[in-house]
Amino acid sequence: MSDKEDLRLEIPSYAFIALARRGMEKISLDQCFLKDCDNEDPELLEPFKKEENEEDLKLIKKIYIKCKKCNRIFILKLEILKKVAKSTKDKDEEALSMGLVHALDENGENLGHIGYF
Ligand SMILES: [Zn+2]
Repeated sequence: MSDKEDLRLEIPSYAFIALARRGMEKISLDQCFLKDCDNEDPELLEPFKKEENEEDLKLIKKIYIKCKKCNRIFILKLEILKKVAKSTKDKDEEALSMGLVHALDENGENLGHIGYF
C-alpha cells in the first residue's frame, strides 16, 4: 500500500451535518470543498500530505488534498476529541471520541465547518 492510499484511509467517508430541527444529513467527504468547484469524484482528489498535532484532549489532523479538477489544494481539518463522556464506573470501557471536520483552503482560511464524524 502506498503512502497516498494510507492518507485516503485517514479521511472518514462521511460527515454528518446537523440541520436545525430536521435531524442530521450525511454528506460525502469525497468532494472538493473549494468555491466554484463541483468535483465529487474521488479519483480526482489526491490526498498528499498530513500534519498531525496532539493536544491534551484532542488530536488534530490536517489532510492536504489536491483537486485535479480545479487544480487547487484544500485541507480537511479533522479534530478528534478524546475521552468525551468517559464512564467512571467501568475503567475498561473504551473512551468515546467524536470528531469535527472543517475545510480550509490552501492558506488555512476557513471554508466552513462541515460537520461531525
Ligand atoms: Zn476542486
